[in-house]
Amino acid sequence: SDDLVRAVHRFMQYSDAARRMNVRANADNAEDAARARRMGAQGVGLCRTEHMFLGDRRQLVERLILADTDKERDESLAALLPMQRDDFVGIFEAMDGLPVTVRLLDPPLHEFLPDVTELSVRVAVAEARGEKHENDLRLLQAVHRLHEQNPMLGLRGVRLGLVVPGLFTMQVRAIAQAAAERLRVGGRPCPEIMIPLVGTVQELEIIREESLNVLREVGEEYGVTLDYPVGTMIELPRAALTAGQIAENAEFFSFGTNDLTQTVWGFSRDDVEASFFSAYLEKGVFGVSPFESLDVDGVGRLIRLAVEEGRRARPGIKLGVCGEHGGDPASVHFFHEAGLDYVSCSPFRVPVARLESGRAAARG
Ligand code: PEP
Ligand code: MG
Repeated sequence: SDDLVRAVHRFMQYSDAARRMNVRANADNAEDAARARRMGAQGVGLCRTEHMFLGDRRQLVERLILADTDKERDESLAALLPMQRDDFVGIFEAMDGLPVTVRLLDPPLHEFLPDVTELSVRVAVAEARGEKHENDLRLLQAVHRLHEQNPMLGLRGVRLGLVVPGLFTMQVRAIAQAAAERLRVGGRPCPEIMIPLVGTVQELEIIREESLNVLREVGEEYGVTLDYPVGTMIELPRAALTAGQIAENAEFFSFGTNDLTQTVWGFSRDDVEASFFSAYLEKGVFGVSPFESLDVDGVGRLIRLAVEEGRRARPGIKLGVCGEHGGDPASVHFFHEAGLDYVSCSPFRVPVARLESGRAAARG
């Protein structure tokens, strides 16, 4: 079996030598990042930061949602900052010398809000015990106020960053501090800051400006230069259509084919289990769900357009993909042909992406 392992290794090396695209992995914590590296990933193409706000930190997030004053909001953000910094220190350490694209917060809001049933039970129990439950009542009100009919199309990504002052700058500060700390111990952090769900260049301009200011400030505090790229996801049709304008304010694009598929087709990602979807598959409207294999005629066409416009506006712009299709063999061939610089996929799909990318290059 040692021979077999050596043969597989040699085969991977041929493929790696042939391919033009880099292969990165999607990883949200140091453990996944280390696994990605062992699988041969050449960086983290998508570090989602949503999970970093759940678990033990939920209470802080609840405080943030409830904050009535700037002071209360800033206190919650200040408490989250060192936790976020440690998250990033771990990932930068695991990927030392390789790029890590950190995406600023993009939660569908409903996943963040406390569950109404759970909250109602908490209120009822407190009431029965004659305990105070003022905060839970306020939380319940907030949940009602923030409720959305279509959360996947609601207050997410850059919209959240623009609506909640200080949220994105807290994250960028955490990234900057983590990078500065790694530099201090001789590490080679290579973060890239990525803004999600951008539809218009104005959204990006505001966040980009704020981010660059924070990088400069933290750099001065630590006495180091933190000159890191700021880029955007292209995951809405409008972003793809206006890719030229957007590229003037972005050092890189990463195509989010999950949201792009949702918005091009007008199918909610949450509804892929719905009956109409299975009927479509049964009737052969599409052979495979467009969420599984890239819809080359629709989503693919927008990607080609954005690649062309993006490169025209900013030659040398770095282009990648980090949606689920990044690890799908047929889609990898498309991305090679469309001229992307890298694909990013789940760590377990990295070997397949390396091989397919090598095959695509060998085919010319
Ligand atoms: C995407 O939309 O393709 C993407 C990678 O982001 P997420 O799945 O987190 O929305
Ligand atoms: Mg997305």
